[in-house]
Amino acid sequence: MKALVKKHREKGLWFEDVPEPKAGEQDVIIKIHQAAICGTDVHIYKWDEWAQKTIPVPMHVGHEFMGEIVEMGKSVTGLKLGERVSGEGHIVCGHCRNCRAGYRHLCINTIGVGVNRPGCFAEYLCIPASNVFPVPEMISDDEATILDPLGNAVHTALSFDLSGEDVLVTGAGPIGIMAGAIAGHVGARHVVITDINEYRLELARKTGLKNVIHAKKVSLKDVMKNLKMAEGFDVGFEMSGSSQAFNDMVDTMKSGGKIGLLGILPNDTLIQWNQVIFKSLVIKGIYGREMFETWYKMCAMIESGLNIRCIFTHKFPVSRFKEGFEVMLSGNSGKVILDCRDWGKT
Ligand code: NAD
Ligand code: ZN
Repeated sequence: MKALVKKHREKGLWFEDVPEPKAGEQDVIIKIHQAAICGTDVHIYKWDEWAQKTIPVPMHVGHEFMGEIVEMGKSVTGLKLGERVSGEGHIVCGHCRNCRAGYRHLCINTIGVGVNRPGCFAEYLCIPASNVFPVPEMISDDEATILDPLGNAVHTALSFDLSGEDVLVTGAGPIGIMAGAIAGHVGARHVVITDINEYRLELARKTGLKNVIHAKKVSLKDVMKNLKMAEGFDVGFEMSGSSQAFNDMVDTMKSGGKIGLLGILPNDTLIQWNQVIFKSLVIKGIYGREMFETWYKMCAMIESGLNIRCIFTHKFPVSRFKEGFEVMLSGNSGKVILDCRDWGKT
């Protein structure tokens, strides 16, 4: 089959023929209809330090997808051939303490689809049946393709009670914008979102967010004054991976405020520990999605009117994947989808 393979230890991905995956007893084979490019795929494409340490070569990558079930192992139950599905890209062990306790998102042996094992930028993907997520009818193909990053946003946002609260989101990337939209959807009072990229700020406005702030041009203290917020933000979602943004957040949290950290901060980030301690802040690291409560909630929220459609800014046939990666690299995009129904002349 055709696949986008990390073939050489350098920038790029390559169209290659690779063997079709074989389903084990508990596995499902999915014919990929659409895939989306994640920030992680961009790291792999660029071949940065993290990718060099993490990605086996050669291997085909990608982990955001939707498609249809074309084959099932003989022990698989509860799924159907032809079913429209997406899937959880974190494959867990099932026997560690957290897995046995039902906290699969906290598994200590997590394996990443398209990171530690072959991914979805291919004609077919093989994953365990327990990772398959049947897509409800009212979810569009585009929405189904990005349930993975939407799940990051939902997992973070629903970690705290947001009703009537003032929420700060730092980083208006696709995940930050979706988290802001979710906060509004579940009843936050004010949602303030920051970025330093005009394209992203405009995308946040188009999604319907009202308090969209250029972090280098407007101070959060002034924003608070305009919104008549006296004591600080109740809840913060750090979704930029910028230490500056994180420290601005810590600085403007109310006493007892709660922070969800999804953005991957540099290891040498300095934190104002005195603020964290004297304001009794609660900081929660977030990785992935809760299996499968997050998946259930995100579909239910789309059904109840959560609108994330502005986040889809580009779609390319998979044969033009390079354009997709280049627009992601430019920062001037929302989610970029690769249509994998036809691999064309590659
Ligand atoms: P993204 O890179 O598209 O978006 C990050 C945004 O932050 C960009 O628009 C950038 O302009 C903005 N930014 C940079 N510096 C800023 C500053 N000082 N103030 C405000 N904004 C600033 O990323 P994404 O795909 O939306 O993901 C968000 C973050 O979450 C990334 O750091 C990503 O690596 C991380 N992530 C974590 C997990 C997890 O499981 N923990 C999963 C997916 C992504
Ligand atoms: Zn486990």
